[in-house]
Amino acid sequence: MLNVLKPRHEVAGATTLEITDITAEAARLPAFDAHEQVWLGRDTVRGLIAIVSIHSTVLGPALGGTRIWPHVSFEAGLTDALRLSRGMTFKSAIAGLPLGGGKAVIIADAKTDKAPAMLEAYAEMLDTLVGQYITAEDVGMTLADADFLAERAPNVAGTTRGGSGNPSPFTAQGTFFGLKAALRHRKGSDDLKGVRVAVQGLGSVGWSLCRKLHAEGAVLTVSDLDPARTARAAETLGATIVEGNAIVAADVDIFAPCALGGMLSAETIPLLKAGIVAGAANNQLATAEDGQRLVEKGILYAPDYVINAGGVINVAAEMADGGYSVEAVMPRVEKIAKTLTKIFERAEREGRTTDDVAEAMAREIVEAARK
Ligand code: NAD
Repeated sequence: MLNVLKPRHEVAGATTLEITDITAEAARLPAFDAHEQVWLGRDTVRGLIAIVSIHSTVLGPALGGTRIWPHVSFEAGLTDALRLSRGMTFKSAIAGLPLGGGKAVIIADAKTDKAPAMLEAYAEMLDTLVGQYITAEDVGMTLADADFLAERAPNVAGTTRGGSGNPSPFTAQGTFFGLKAALRHRKGSDDLKGVRVAVQGLGSVGWSLCRKLHAEGAVLTVSDLDPARTARAAETLGATIVEGNAIVAADVDIFAPCALGGMLSAETIPLLKAGIVAGAANNQLATAEDGQRLVEKGILYAPDYVINAGGVINVAAEMADGGYSVEAVMPRVEKIAKTLTKIFERAEREGRTTDDVAEAMAREIVEAARK
């Protein structure tokens, strides 16, 4: 018998939204990793299929953005949600935030399927999960969408109205600091002049990262599915454009993945020429073994959820006593560089992958809080 959660709106009147506990179904997938709870929100009238996955609430309420993406199957969407929410637990723990890990995936094409009715249904689902889950922006969701949801549910962070706004500039800033920390660790200097960097994905984070790299003299190679974005990078930043996934094999010093996850795999790692991988995309390693593959190739990998924590650090500042202040955010974003250096050093000392060490550090923090 499935556990069904009643949308709050059902009390006030009719709703077409059904919220079902699918934790048992999710537990059959390899990405499950002892999630506390996984919810499915379905509204056939308003066209919503949403998964809210809550990995851990040990350190605080589960915070993580909502991704709107046309996954090829329900299982692919569920796996994506599970991997992302687990990453959020680790990300917030390592960044020292009083937050747990959660994430939502709406299986839809943000360009063609996103409609007010769908978002209204999703806001009902969010409202029902107050206390368990706080959402924010992710791929496919705009600040305007976050504002729309926040008018209907209180558990939406990163809005423009009284919130911390767009997290992407902070993610890009943290990624920039992290990339420089990796360069310093490898080369003894973080001078970017003449350093060749390949940036995959020129969205909110990738574009901002490119501008910072260019400003310090890095030589850019870029790719994006949208030719207008690569053309702008070529015109304004002198970037070389690479088509499609050939960016992975670009002859560069640093590869910065800033598109979607899973680009570091058994197929792509042998093609990498970069000595460092440091970018903002979530879930960069296709499998856990890919961390080892990178080590064997002598590549220094900055674990994704450590280097890309700037956005969640910014969002979390909304919940601080006295409210949001950008002055409180920057020192924490800067600390990403120190944390990464610690991870690089511990990985070398212990002969482990950086990914392994980051996960161990995060789990140590969560377990200490559980006791
Ligand atoms: P975005 O949607 O603004 O940009 C993504 C860009 O990648 C788009 O321009 C898209 O066309 C491009 N893209 C998609 N697939 C591609 C491919 N195969 N090759 C080349 N380009 C491709 O997203 P964003 O907010 O910039 O986030 C980028 C990544 O960083 C995502 O993985 C996201 O989960 C992660 N991240 C973002 C934040 C944030 O604050 N925005 C925080 C943490 C992690």
